[in-house]
Parts: sequence; structure tokens; C-alpha cells
Amino acid sequence: MALRRVAVIGAGISGLASAYYLQRNSQDTEILIFESESTSGGKLVTSSFAGLAVDEGADSFLARVPWAFDLCKELGLESELVSPSARRASLWLDEKLQSIPSPNVLGVPLSIDSIPEGLLSPEALSRLSGEGFPDHVLPTGDLSVGQVIRACAGSEVLERLVDPLLGGVNAGKADEMSCALMAPQLLEAAHHPDGMLNHLRNVAKNVDPNAPVFHAHPEGMSRIITALTESLKSSLRTSTQVQNISFSEKKWKIDTENGFELVDGILLCAPAHVSSNLLNNSFPSLAKEFASIKHASVVLITFGYSRTDFEADASQSGFLVPRESGLLMTACSFSGSKWPHLKHPDLEILRVSTGRVDDTKHLSMTDEELLSELQSDLLVTLGIESKPVDVRVSRWPDSLTQFPVGHVDFVADLQNKLSHSAPGLISAGTFQYGVGVPACVRSGKEGADQMTTFLDG
Ligand SMILES: Cc1cc2nc3c(=O)[nH]c(=O)nc-3n(C[C@H](O)[C@H](O)[C@H](O)COP(=O)(O)OP(=O)(O)OC[C@H]3O[C@@H](n4cnc5c(N)ncnc54)[C@H](O)[C@@H]3O)c2cc1C
Repeated sequence: MALRRVAVIGAGISGLASAYYLQRNSQDTEILIFESESTSGGKLVTSSFAGLAVDEGADSFLARVPWAFDLCKELGLESELVSPSARRASLWLDEKLQSIPSPNVLGVPLSIDSIPEGLLSPEALSRLSGEGFPDHVLPTGDLSVGQVIRACAGSEVLERLVDPLLGGVNAGKADEMSCALMAPQLLEAAHHPDGMLNHLRNVAKNVDPNAPVFHAHPEGMSRIITALTESLKSSLRTSTQVQNISFSEKKWKIDTENGFELVDGILLCAPAHVSSNLLNNSFPSLAKEFASIKHASVVLITFGYSRTDFEADASQSGFLVPRESGLLMTACSFSGSKWPHLKHPDLEILRVSTGRVDDTKHLSMTDEELLSELQSDLLVTLGIESKPVDVRVSRWPDSLTQFPVGHVDFVADLQNKLSHSAPGLISAGTFQYGVGVPACVRSGKEGADQMTTFLDG
């Protein structure tokens, strides 16, 4: 019989990773996982599109940080992972597609030779050929990405390159984003005695330009979820929505629509707004903190076009659309150019995104309206006149966490408050280190370590 019981709330990648590492740390702990949906995976969903396994949300993860890759390695998936075949991407700027200068660091070009003519003004180019010292003294501590880039590389670089690239990660706005969380390498470089641009160039000399930037699984991101659930001995209760959590007589109580469970600790791995609702009755001040975390809503539309009507550039993975473009779409990726396993014999598969933290127009549009406006955008940007052969609309309301300046301190303070006023309640997820899959795995792993310390304490 297990000595201790821990509940994991939410079977997305954060929750499953936390259960996986807790199981590894602490074999005498019984783990109960509660998931409101009928399947696990949360925002990692792969489904069939035109006969191929195409992701409806995340399709890959960053290779330059370790956590997701390490997890895949432990799950025996390492040798199956693939990297994009097309590495170049473009921007829709000045009514045309223009190559993103390469090499770059989060959109900041490292050499002016790689910048297509006309993309930046002569003043901006002259600034970029310098050392990148800030044009005024930058305060210490966290700053917005906008503050850092405007000061060290100029506003054009921010608005035309960095904002579209970073905004593509969490649908946020660079002028409001925490640089410490979203781009720590830029914040560090901005204070470097050699100047931001010089420092970035020096660091880049030690980076292998051919190293993979992303990893994916040919069966889609759901394969990672299946491997994780198969490795778990925990009881996974799908279609079981947690409705409330409370604490009394040394036990945590989990109320679900089907009854309740008493446990010694909880790993709360649901989205922040759900965590807020679950804490509202017993811990209203903690609930308020979670409620203050903002999210952007996005939609991902998958289009299948007959290759006789449109053929994507095989050297390009897709393009990004800056917020001032006047288009509804924010990005378009050419799945078949990017991933060999998504090269359909007859179709070009395009994954088109829409929605930003400051652009919620899509929320009031029907699927038909969305499809019609996005097809107009595809006509403008790619010249596609024909109708798609297949379409799929995947809506992701309140899905992408926003990280305002000071978020790192906010999280440290929140974790501190949790450990003081709710010992044994540990929260993990996108709010902690970022929305990317590696950041979620890291958060889940650290949550499991904290839970082990708590249980052993
Ligand atoms: C369109 C899109 C594209 C993306 N692309 C990428 C990408 O290419 N690469 C990348 O690294 N990241 C990407 N991301 C981000 C990444 O997918 C997510 O940040 C990550 O999957 C979130 O995982 P999570 O486990 O923290 O949250 P979730 O996946 O949201 O999991 C939370 C789980 O909690 C469950 N839950 C909610 N309420 C309750 C309740 N009351 N009781 C029980 N269970 C509950 C939910 O059903 C869900 O399964 C993308 C995100 C989106 C939306």
C-alpha cells in the first residue's frame, strides 16, 4: 500500500511531466491524475488531416534548451525525433515577403550583409553595423523587450523584426513583454561592456549554424503524450473535472463532479485562470494572484491546397505577419516544406494562425467568416486564388500566457506565498518559465522535485 498520495490536476505536458518525475523520485507515492477532457495532452493535440498526422497546436519544440529533449530521451523517443528541412522564414513587410536576416538572435540581425535591400532604412542599418550600446542608461532589473531593443538597436529593428518573431511565440507585444523571461540573452547583452550587438556576435561565433533549432516527432506531438502516459503507473482519470480544492485535518481535498479524494499534496498544473477558480473558495488571495495572469486567445487553421493550385517554396518554412500589416493572419507555416513527414503527395498543407493579445477580432467571427478572411489574406500574401481542398479550425481560447515586465519576481513571490499559506500545494505550468513545451517540462520537473522535498520533510 502506498504511503502517500499526490493529485496532479491537468494532464497537459506540464502535469504529465510532473507525474513522470514524481514517480521517478518517489516510488512509494500513489499519483492520481485528474483531467477534465476525455483525452490527455491539453494543447498537444495531433489529429488526422488529409490522411497525415498534423498537430492542431504545438508542432515542435525548441532544441537549444534541454528539458523536452531530455524527457524524450528518457522516454526512448530520441532517435525518432526529426528537425525541419527548411530553416529559412520570411516576413510580410511592405506588401511583400522578405527573408528574415540570418543569422539573427530573436530577430536582431547579426550582420547587415544579410538584410534584404529596403527592409530597413539607412539610419537603422548604420545603427546595426555598430556595437549596440544603449542610447541612454538602461536601469538594472527587468525591462520590456521593446525598451531593450529600441535602446540598443533602434525602433525599426524592434517593430519590423523582433516584435513579429517574439510575438509569434506567445501572441504578445514586445513593448510589454518581460525581457528577463522572454529574451534573457538580450537583457544580458544589453548590459554587456562590449555593447549588445558586439556581444551577440561574439556569442554566435560559438554556435553551430547547422545545429537543429526545433525537434518534432513524425507522429505528431501526441506521440510524446502517449509515451508519457504509457510510462506512468498513476491512475489517470480523464473526463473528471476538478471543481474545488481545500485543506483540512492535514489532508488536501479534491472535489470532482464524481465525488472527492483526500491526498497529501497537489501538483496544480491547470491553466492559471482554472487554478484561480479552483482556489477561490479556500484561498481567495492566491486565487486573485492566478487570476491576474493574462492570456491571449489564438486560432490555428489548417488548409490543404491542391499542389496544382499552389506550390510552397521548399526552402522556406513559412512567414510571419507584423501587427501593422492590416491582415487577420499572424503567421503561416508551410508544413510540407518544414517537415518531410508532412509532405503530402498531392496537397500543400498550410498552418495559418490568427489572434494576438491586442487583437481579438477572431473571437467574434464564425468559422466561415474566419476561413473567408484568411483565404483573402492568402490571396494577398501568396497569390492563392483557388479554394482549399480541406480545412480544419482549431480554436485555442485563453491559451497563451502573457509575461509583463517583472513577471519573474511575481512568480517567485507567488511560489513563496503558496509554500507559506498552502504547504503541499505546488503549481506548475506555462505561467512559470514560458509557454514553450520545454519550459512546461521544466516547470513540471521542478514541481515534482519540490513535492518530493515536501513529502520527505
Ligand atoms: C496554437 C498553439 C501553437 C503552439 N505552438 C507551440 C510550438 O510549436 N512549440 C512549443 O513549444 N509550444 C507551442 N505552444 C505552447 C504549448 O503548446 C503550451 O504552452 C503547452 O502545451 C501548455 O501545456 P500545459 O500542460 O501547461 O497546459 P495545457 O496543455 O493547457 O494542459 C492543462 C490541462 O488541464 C486540464 N484542465 C483544465 N481545467 C481542469 C480541471 N478543472 N480539472 C482537471 N483538468 C483540467 C486541461 O483540459 C488540459 O488538459 C503552442 C500553443 C498553441 C495554443
